Amino acid sequence: MHKCDVCRRRDAVYLRTYSGHKLCLPCLEKILARTVKRAIGESHLLEPRPKILVPIRPSAPAHSLAILALLSRVEKKFDATLGVLLPSQLRGREEVSRGIEYAGKNVKVEVIEANTPLPSTSDAVACIRFERAWSLHYARKWGADAVAFPVSRTCMNLIGVESLLSGRIEALSESLPILDWARPPVLASAYYIEAEALTAYAYLRGLHSSPLCNLYIPAKTPLLSIMGRRPELEFSSHKTIMRIAERLRGMERCIVCGGFTREGSICRYCEETGASQLFLSS
Ligand SMILES: [Zn+2]
Ligand SMILES: [Zn+2]
Repeated sequence: MHKCDVCRRRDAVYLRTYSGHKLCLPCLEKILARTVKRAIGESHLLEPRPKILVPIRPSAPAHSLAILALLSRVEKKFDATLGVLLPSQLRGREEVSRGIEYAGKNVKVEVIEANTPLPSTSDAVACIRFERAWSLHYARKWGADAVAFPVSRTCMNLIGVESLLSGRIEALSESLPILDWARPPVLASAYYIEAEALTAYAYLRGLHSSPLCNLYIPAKTPLLSIMGRRPELEFSSHKTIMRIAERLRGMERCIVCGGFTREGSICRYCEETGASQLFLSS
């Protein structure tokens, strides 16, 4: 058995492809928590004792639980309260209770249960915008200072490439680390974490959870076949996508989900999924 490259004491349980490091679970957790702290810190939005809403996204419950766990370790210092927005369809799952209990050891946690019908589309942009509109709606009700939206950098990049290839340029708002115009602001707390590491962390912490709906990103298969397992390409493409997305900041934004829109004040995704009717009342 290999020893962990960081502590050199415990047995390694995960090879992080991106860095080539063999890591034990506590060291993996420490490294990932540090990158979550960096993503949150760069926003310069949070006051001491913040109230942060963490949605357990129906399409990515494992990644959401992983971010909840990591955030609870970071926010311990800031005396934060984490609001866990839980779809009622996930209530009773063992790994969900485990994730909430784990976070609760470090910070104050409040569970906000939401009985929301899920959209029938598998379009990744439409689903993510629905989940964000849902999060914003409950964040305002709960009085949150920010939403820590759990989307991996890999997913953000794939949507970025997809929007460039398909000409759906408005979808580039999904690649931005902060939607600071949203009320409350939305932070992509896993902005520096690749999907693979989040999945591994969730699995090793016992937080693996199957999604309630599957996202479809058409660019995923061709892109991953070119990228292979070379995440450095992922990093450079990330910078390019970011630069383009930043230049679009002047675009009109949807009042429901906060994403860029070309159709007036409500985007076509929020119209299609019914998010506009469900969440506009807040
Ligand atoms: Zn270690
Ligand atoms: Zn919208």
